[in-house]
Amino acid sequence: MLSEQTCLVTGASRGIGRGIALELGETGANVVVNYRSSDEEAQEVVEEVEARGGNAITAKADVADYEEVGLMRERVHDEFGEVDVLVNNAGITVDKKFEHMSREDWERVMRVNLGGVFNCTKHFFEDVRQAHEGRLINISSVVGQQGNYGQANYATTKSGLFGFTRTIALELASEGSTANCVAPGFVATDMLETVPERVKEKILRRIPLDRFATVEDVSGIVRFVASEESSYMTGQILAVNGGMEW
Ligand code: NAP
Repeated sequence: MLSEQTCLVTGASRGIGRGIALELGETGANVVVNYRSSDEEAQEVVEEVEARGGNAITAKADVADYEEVGLMRERVHDEFGEVDVLVNNAGITVDKKFEHMSREDWERVMRVNLGGVFNCTKHFFEDVRQAHEGRLINISSVVGQQGNYGQANYATTKSGLFGFTRTIALELASEGSTANCVAPGFVATDMLETVPERVKEKILRRIPLDRFATVEDVSGIVRFVASEESSYMTGQILAVNGGMEW
């Protein structure tokens, strides 16, 4: 149970982050729903957490903006106090074959997917370290393990999270806090909707369980990693990908 703990989920207005926020809210945690632009959707997530008996607030901030994340930290501290569980979930894709990928396409993805993880972890590192068994959970991807055609920028950010997570795990360990990665396969969200149908069919043929993941397939694993049951697991990559090889 995570009751009385505060969990911050970045990119929680939609998709996987939304599912994680609802799942953690059900355990009795205080949930912070971070997002960048979807005001209404974020508010609906808060209302849904509350309808299930939990506490939640929205916290609008572009994770790529260091100052905005600092302001979010103040708001979270005012409302709920220090953060026990940080889930770095916010992420974007800008897919192109490498020959067509511009420097801006590369940097946009770096700024959100890696820069955002740096900014949030930096601002909440002390909270997580000092928490009783604090948790840092980074949402990576099978694409960080396998690579993927047209995703050189995205794959690089998702592999980068492995080295980051393993290092932070070492630096948190003396206080009993942990850092782990959850690496989903292909999940039915808006992000997957940007992939052309014929490419989705090809991907599906590579998934032994013969279906895309649901948001709940991933959020349940995140709930386990956030819980005290995972206390002795740190620096790990949990692959939630329907049996794809990597
Ligand atoms: P999604 O449906 O596109 O939702 C993205 C979420 O991130 C939204 O809540 C969005 O907020 C937020 N966001 C984007 N940029 C942000 C920023 N700069 N600052 C704050 N919030 C920001 O994505 P998803 O499919 O749920 O993916 C979530 C995470 O899982 C990502 O890290 C992704 O790489 C990873 N993942 C996804 C899949 C998949 O197949 N879907 C597979 C493996 C890993 P707004 O609504 O305000 O824009």
